[in-house]
Amino acid sequence: MIRIQKRLSYNLDQILARQERIPLQQRIICYLAAILIFYIVIPIVLSLYIRPIPVFSLLFFYLINFSAAIMLINSSFQRRCRIEINKQDLHENINLLTEEMAKQRKQQQILMSKSSRYNSLKDIIEQINQNLSLEKIAEQLCYLAFKLISGNKGLCVLYLVDERSQRLKVFTAKKEDEALVIKAKEGDIFDFWVLRHNSPLIVEDARKDFRFDPEKLKGQSVRPVLSLISAPFLSENRLLGILRLDSQHPNFYSQDDLRFLATICELGAVAIENGELFQKTQDLAIHDGLTRLYVRGYFMERLKEECSRALRDSANLSLLMLDIDFFKDYNDRFGHTAGDLVLIRLARALEEQLKKFNPIVSRFGGEEFCVILPRCQKNAALEIAEDIRLKIEKNKIMLRRHETQVTVSIGVASFPENAAEGNELILQADKALYAAKQSGRNRVNSV
Ligand code: GH3
Ligand code: MG
Ligand code: MG
Repeated sequence: MIRIQKRLSYNLDQILARQERIPLQQRIICYLAAILIFYIVIPIVLSLYIRPIPVFSLLFFYLINFSAAIMLINSSFQRRCRIEINKQDLHENINLLTEEMAKQRKQQQILMSKSSRYNSLKDIIEQINQNLSLEKIAEQLCYLAFKLISGNKGLCVLYLVDERSQRLKVFTAKKEDEALVIKAKEGDIFDFWVLRHNSPLIVEDARKDFRFDPEKLKGQSVRPVLSLISAPFLSENRLLGILRLDSQHPNFYSQDDLRFLATICELGAVAIENGELFQKTQDLAIHDGLTRLYVRGYFMERLKEECSRALRDSANLSLLMLDIDFFKDYNDRFGHTAGDLVLIRLARALEEQLKKFNPIVSRFGGEEFCVILPRCQKNAALEIAEDIRLKIEKNKIMLRRHETQVTVSIGVASFPENAAEGNELILQADKALYAAKQSGRNRVNSV
């Protein structure tokens, strides 16, 4: 294409050069000289030799010369016209070719940006697949989509489906405006569409999109969203989450952007699934299967950490050790399954009642529970323990229309008042618990 254009330009230059090779003044001088020679000099010379010149011959001579001159002028004029037409044609061709070239250059740029997008995608997906932390995987996917598709403009949100509630939950986000708060934590009308259809969505201008009721749109969003693309993370038709990019400007995203986002989600779905599995495995390793409280091993690690923190901050912490009274009898009377139910209920009650104290709650043994109360002095811990004991005592558990009930004994010890480190603190709380059992059960005791 460039070669053709160069050739045309060269031809045009040639024509123009040819035309301008003899300047106009010289051409006029030539014409005048020719007129002078043919109409004055030649007749004068001839008149010197041929006398008298016959008027008829002279007239004939002038006529012939005049006709020849007219023919010459005419052919020159026609040639000039042809050149002019050629010139215009060539100009037109050059313009067309320039336009075509600009188009091709644009196309080339689009292709280059696409290829660089896909190249970086390959690298980053490789990195993501090497990672097992769900947080890091989600963070990278969000970063990648926001940077490569939106050019860090607007908003990018990654939702994951909560396994228990089967609802979307914002997992991570990237924003152009850092101060922006995402109000729709469980998604909005557009996300529900993707959730329902399990397929990618593009909205070029929300005001004109017939799929979404404008009234609902107005009502639900504090932040005006005019265009968006969104794609699901699917694993064997199970929806794991959604990756969505949105903008306050209409027509911000193209079909190409949507295709690219869908590719990111297709590749990212495997990594997300792996991340979720890894998280579950880790959860199982530190959580008790029945009560979902921390297991003893993890609890001991946390106790060590909390003791170091308390020492560093010159603060206190207290430990509660709970044991269900006569639980063997309960099992014997109502069965092991009913006993399990009691353990689960007790775990939830402990979490619920203590949540304002930021506790670390564990199932320490069969029917024994241990709680760390950070930044809590012994007196306060004794009050909290008494509250728990009372609540459990009053709480009736319905079993096959039977009203049942359990009580607990609680031992309390505080750090650094009663022990210099975690293991010793456990021993002290156990001692207090033993004393509570000895003195009749269903009571709180401290060392
Ligand atoms: P005490 O007041 O002295 O604590 O009496 P107790 O019967 O609670 O104490 P003991 O240690 O003799 O018995 C603990 C019982 O807890 C034994 C077992 O049947 C029960 N237990 C331990 N783990 C579980 C469990 O996971 N599920 C159920 N249902 N029972 C359990
Ligand atoms: Mg026990
Ligand atoms: Mg017991």
